[in-house]
Amino acid sequence: MTGYTTTQSGAPLASDAHSLTTGPDGITALHDRALVEKLAAFNRERVPERNPHAKGGGAFGEFEITEDVSKYTRAALFQPGAKGEVLLRFSSVAGEQGSPDTWRDVRGFALRFYTTEGNFDVVGNNTPVFFVRDAMKFPDFIHSQKRLGASGLRNGDMQWDFWTLSPESAHQVTYLMGDRGLPLSWRHLNGYGSHTFQWINAEGERFWVKYHFKSRQGVVAMTNEEAERLAGVDADHYRRDLYESIERGEFPTWDIFVQIMPYEEAKTYRFNPFDITKTWSHADYPLVKVGHFTLNRNPRNFFAEIEQAAFSPSNLVPGTDISPDKMLMARVFSYPDQQRYRIGTNYNQLPVNQPRAAHVENYQHEGNMRYHFNSPETPVYTPNSFGGASADPSRAGEGSWETDGELVRAAQSLHSEDDDFGQAGTLYREVFNDEQKARFLETLLGQYAGLTIDAIKERFIQYWTNVDADLGAKIRAEVSRVAA
Ligand code: NDP
Repeated sequence: MTGYTTTQSGAPLASDAHSLTTGPDGITALHDRALVEKLAAFNRERVPERNPHAKGGGAFGEFEITEDVSKYTRAALFQPGAKGEVLLRFSSVAGEQGSPDTWRDVRGFALRFYTTEGNFDVVGNNTPVFFVRDAMKFPDFIHSQKRLGASGLRNGDMQWDFWTLSPESAHQVTYLMGDRGLPLSWRHLNGYGSHTFQWINAEGERFWVKYHFKSRQGVVAMTNEEAERLAGVDADHYRRDLYESIERGEFPTWDIFVQIMPYEEAKTYRFNPFDITKTWSHADYPLVKVGHFTLNRNPRNFFAEIEQAAFSPSNLVPGTDISPDKMLMARVFSYPDQQRYRIGTNYNQLPVNQPRAAHVENYQHEGNMRYHFNSPETPVYTPNSFGGASADPSRAGEGSWETDGELVRAAQSLHSEDDDFGQAGTLYREVFNDEQKARFLETLLGQYAGLTIDAIKERFIQYWTNVDADLGAKIRAEVSRVAA
C-alpha cells in the first residue's frame, strides 16, 4: 500500500471526493477522467447472477482420503492418504442474490477438489434426487419456481401446475416439503452428487458410483415458523452462520461415501440407475467410506472467490467420468456455457478456478481477458514438429459406455420397479417418523392454501394420493373441513 489513490492506469488522483467542474457551482467536465473511470467501474461491478442457484456462500478447506478404494478408481485424489484443498459453495435454487436463505428450497452443494490431476467438481444438492430427468424440461421447471412474467411475483399455482403435470418430480418434492427442505444451517445438511457417475480403475474396469457427503454436524431441520421469522430478521442467516462458525474456529466436516454398482448390474437393476429421480437403495448398494473434508478458511473476498467460482460437472479427472444420465450429459455442456456468459471466455484463468495442484497446457489461446499465454517458442497448433505437448490417452483415464440405436426423442427405459411415485411413497411411509409426517402434512396444507385455481388444487390432491393414498385422503379431508 502506498497511501495514495490512483487511476487504474496508476496515475495519482487529485481528489477522492470532488469532481471537476467549471467553478464550485458549475457544470461537470466530461474529461474528468477520474470521475468517468470511477463511475464506469461502478456500473460494471455486477456480473450476471447464476440462473438458478444465485444466492449462496462458501468456504475453503482440506480433504483427506482415509480408506482404500483404489480397486474402483485410479483417480489420484481418491488414493489412500491423498490430501488436498477443497472449495464448497452452498446455495438456494430459486431465489435471487438478495433472497432470504430460509425460504424452503433445495440447497446446492457444489464441491471442488483441487487435485494433482486437475480440478474435480461434484456439483450436487442436499438431496439425492432431482425434479426432472431430462434437461429439455429444466428451463421450464426453473421458470415455474421463479417469477411470473407479468407481475414479477413468485406464484404457487405456477409451481404446483408444473409439478403436478410432471409426476417424475414427486420424489424430490416429497423430500423438499419434508424436514430437509428447511435445514438448520448449511453445516447441518448432507450433500449428494445426485447423478450416477463413473469410476475407472487402473486396469480400465468401470463402475457406476453415487457420491454421498454426510455432515458430522448431523442433519438438523428448522421449523416453518423459525424459517419465516429468520427470512424477515436475517435474510443472510445461512451465509452468516457458515462465515461466523469458521471465524470462531468451529470447522464443519463431512464424511465422503460412495455407493458402487458393478458396471453390468446397471442393465438389470430394479430402478434405472441413470434416472436422477431415483435413489439406489442402501440395502442393495451400501455406503462405502472414502474419507472426509473439513472447511476451515473463509474466502478473503466473496466476489473473487465465491461469486466467480465456476463449478462444472465437466471438471473431471482421470479415473472419473459421467454416465448416460440425461440431466448430467446436458449439464456437462450447460455449466461451462453459463460461466462463459456470466464471467467471460477465460473464466478458468481466474485464481479460484485455476487448477492449484496441476498444470494447464494446450493450444487454446487469445479471447476476451486472456491472461495466460504460452512461451514464444511454443507452437499455436497441434500436431507440430517442434516438440509441443500432445494428448496422452493413458493419462486421461476416461470412462465410456456402449450405446447404439436410432436417434429418438423418448423417455428413458423403465426397469422392473420404476414408476414416478414409488420411491416418494417409500420416503413418506418408511423413512419419515410420525412427527415428520405431521409436519409434512402441515407444510402441504400451507402450500395448498396458496393455490387459487381449482384444477391445480384437484391435481395437487391427486398427486399426493398417488404418493400415498392415506396421505391424499388426509389432505382431502382437511381441505374439505376448512372449506366447510
Ligand atoms: P434406507 O432406510 O437405507 O435409507 C433411508 C435414508 O433416508 C436414510 O439413510 C437417510 O439417508 C435418509 N433420510 C432419513 N430421514 C430423512 C428425511 N426426513 N428426509 C429425507 N431423507 C431422509 O432405505 P433406502 O436406501 O431403500 O431408501 C429409502 C428411501 O429413502 C428412498 O426412497 C429415498 O426416498 C430415501 N433416501 C435414500 C437415499 C439413498 O441413497 N438410498 C438417500 C437419502 C434418502 P442419508 O443418510 O443420506 O441422510
